[in-house]
Amino acid sequence: MSNDTSDEDISFFRQFIDYLKWIPVLMATGILIWATVIYMISISQRTEGIIKIIFVTIFVTIFFMIYWSYLRVICARSTEIPEEFKLSPPIHKELAEAKNMKQCHEILKEFSKNLPIKCMNLNGSVRYCEKCKQVKPDRCHHCSSCKTCILKMDHHCPWINNCVSFANYKFFFLFLTYLVIGCIYVICTTFSEGYTLWKTGELHGTSFQIVSLFFMAVLLGFSTITLLVYHCYLLVKNETTIESMRKPVFRSDFNIKSYDIGFKQNFCEVFGNNPWLWCLPIFTTRGEGIDFPVEYFKSEEIPLV
Ligand SMILES: [Zn+2]
Ligand SMILES: [Zn+2]
Repeated sequence: MSNDTSDEDISFFRQFIDYLKWIPVLMATGILIWATVIYMISISQRTEGIIKIIFVTIFVTIFFMIYWSYLRVICARSTEIPEEFKLSPPIHKELAEAKNMKQCHEILKEFSKNLPIKCMNLNGSVRYCEKCKQVKPDRCHHCSSCKTCILKMDHHCPWINNCVSFANYKFFFLFLTYLVIGCIYVICTTFSEGYTLWKTGELHGTSFQIVSLFFMAVLLGFSTITLLVYHCYLLVKNETTIESMRKPVFRSDFNIKSYDIGFKQNFCEVFGNNPWLWCLPIFTTRGEGIDFPVEYFKSEEIPLV
């Protein structure tokens, strides 16, 4: 009886924590909606005629892309890992009864011999997730927040309450890009008013909101552009944030150099082959997130062991 009650308490507590994780998402959405409302009011008060139409059209287009990308990056869920990576109950039992680590490694090696795996652990063993009871595909990592293994995991982001991964990296990159463009646009079109009001110190009503919007755009733009530049670097190198901190270990018998297959191909790996869809948050990423093309060492580059 008491055990049941404590289990219920734990499950309620976990559910409560899961709800709390949506607070940063609500905050970010609130800021975006606030910025939209204030900007529209400000533009309708300060401009008229064709100028107003141009300002509003550009703003609505940029912010529509921001909202669309943000929604896609939040809602995308990591693709289910194929059944062949999951240990069957008899093999899992065998693993649980193994006498030592060497025997565990042998069982996993035998199990994964036909799987498309090029990476391994530092000690040469097969990458395995004890929580999900499955062999991890290349570039896949277990996320403790999402409580599952995530294909081509980049990082877990609290602002989207989701992992940035194979399923939504394109959307995440587009979201950062449109957010930077949106911030620059807001800074440019509110600069004169913001600067004047700040200098004279006469802030009241909507004017105060415009100045707040200006400074919010400066702060947000600065932090986002830093993140965007870093992800441009990762995109060019075909690396994830995790891999930039800890290089993947390739099987020594494969002579693999890296996932960097040249700028154009690296870009198309994430954005797909159709240039008309590159700017839209529509899923066009190549592959299934399980097996990735690699660059091999040239014969003269093969490191001597
Ligand atoms: Zn896992
Ligand atoms: Zn996660």
